[in-house]
Amino acid sequence: MSEGSQRIVAVKGMNDLLPGRSHRVEWLESRARELFARYAYRNIRTPIVETTPLFVRGLGEVTDVVEKEMYSFEDRLNGDPLTLRPEATAGVVRAAIEHNLLYDGGKRLYYMGPMFRHERPQKGRYRQFDQIGAEAMGFAGPEVDAELIVMAAQLLHELGLRDLRLELNSLGISSERSAHRMALIAYFERHLALLDADARRRLHSNPLRVLDSKNPAMRAVIDNAPRLFDFLGPESRTHFDRVLAILDANGIACTIQHRLVRGLDYYTKTVFEFITDQLGAQGTVCAGGRYDGLFAQLGGKPTPAVGWAMGMDRVLDLLDDTEHMPDTPVPDAYAIVAEPATYPEVLRVLQELRRHGVCVQMHADTAGASSLKSQFKRADASGATYALVFAQDEMAHRQVAIKHLRDASIGQILRPVDDIANWAPTLQSRPLSH
Ligand code: ATP
Ligand code: MG
Repeated sequence: MSEGSQRIVAVKGMNDLLPGRSHRVEWLESRARELFARYAYRNIRTPIVETTPLFVRGLGEVTDVVEKEMYSFEDRLNGDPLTLRPEATAGVVRAAIEHNLLYDGGKRLYYMGPMFRHERPQKGRYRQFDQIGAEAMGFAGPEVDAELIVMAAQLLHELGLRDLRLELNSLGISSERSAHRMALIAYFERHLALLDADARRRLHSNPLRVLDSKNPAMRAVIDNAPRLFDFLGPESRTHFDRVLAILDANGIACTIQHRLVRGLDYYTKTVFEFITDQLGAQGTVCAGGRYDGLFAQLGGKPTPAVGWAMGMDRVLDLLDDTEHMPDTPVPDAYAIVAEPATYPEVLRVLQELRRHGVCVQMHADTAGASSLKSQFKRADASGATYALVFAQDEMAHRQVAIKHLRDASIGQILRPVDDIANWAPTLQSRPLSH
């Protein structure tokens, strides 16, 4: 095969969302948008490309994402190091600092969009994937941690997901982490033989990350490691207890998971994950926590903040084949055109119907006029409820024939094309606002 005719395919791990899946994605996004509005969270859109130091400084050098998963490249004109965003929190915080967004108080924000990580693709783990996320910035109190968790729980519940468990932990503040870190290093040094290569390498640079390992062989040594929780001072403990109390009062069940440390360095105090057992190793559908140190780490004024991100692919995988998923939409009506010469008038009528909220699909083909029979076949296949038959005789009387495609007992009726407002609503399956 010559080079010119070779088929070009998508990049590995980056998926095309074809109309069926894409419809579900849009549905999920609109459900999330609607929920965020009820909690008074506002949308923010930051660029897909950021400078590489934003992530190296923000997420931490010794993290999976920064060490192995970033798509980084140089700007071809000035050589600037750039990276496709692997997550959105760092970018949102950068934007908040850059635009002094918190000048008049805390802000509640949400985003949705694609993230990029160079991982081994498998079900629920892709190289381009979509996240929905929320951030509350400028609030120090535990009630905001709880608000975010309650909001995520409500979204998952409203989507129809009932079998998720919520795991929580506290990572404390930096002095508590330092004390724990020393104990952790001493412990792992005593058990070096049980650590894998990754863990040994991180043992001194970032021992907390070792707790985040997905290697089942290290499970026991991690389970018996000193708990950060036991190093928390009274302030961190009170903060955590208040979060738990609010969740309890709101009927949200959770368990404390001492192994939960999250994959990124910026977390402090509360961290949490919503987990399912149905997706194997890709079981975390929503994850987040407090990141009180990130603003200062990125050169801004110290500012408390907390947020979460939800993996849309995993949420949709869980919902696939459940009754909660919306059906792919079908048109209300399919327009059958007997005479190609009448298209100018047909299009005018269809446009008028659409102005009145009717979803109409127009018959079109490339090979000139198709028979009425083949047009009816197409109409049937489209899933439409009605066929609008534009035949010359009726059009001469400024009428269109309407035939119910799903109920043969309903006879064909004629309707005037100059009085559409009167009968358009009878064709509509959905209210106008959709
Ligand atoms: P994991 O432990 O599964 O690698 P993570 O801790 O790296 O997840 P976060 O950075 O917390 O993930 O991202 C938040 C959510 O985004 C995850 O809980 C997951 O639902 C989703 N997510 C993360 N990475 C991917 C990916 N490569 N493909 C699809 N979804 C992802
Ligand atoms: Mg990961």
